[in-house]
Amino acid sequence: MINIEEIKNKLLKEKEEIIFVLEELKREMNNLKENPEYEFSAASEAFEEKQDIHIKKEFLEERLEEINRALGKIENNTYGRCLKCGKEIESARLQIDPTFEYCREHSHDH
Ligand SMILES: [Zn+2]
Repeated sequence: MINIEEIKNKLLKEKEEIIFVLEELKREMNNLKENPEYEFSAASEAFEEKQDIHIKKEFLEERLEEINRALGKIENNTYGRCLKCGKEIESARLQIDPTFEYCREHSHDH
């Protein structure tokens, strides 16, 4: 059995953390833009740092989407079912990551 309340709280907590980190990253991006050296150093550290922030930001935005999708399913009472076969996803899997959308059997076929 899965505890939906517990999962929901876990998702909401992670969501909050991600939004916080995303705000930080946006601030960092703005700081880099305002850095006067930035314009002259396309291949330099500033550029690399910017790429790095961009990758992190994309990763976090994707994760945020997964979390929102899982929260939406909780609202619709469709949470915890495999998208492929419709069976309940093993609670052990949901404990590892509450945004999993496939059961163990189908975790590799999508
Ligand atoms: Zn399945």
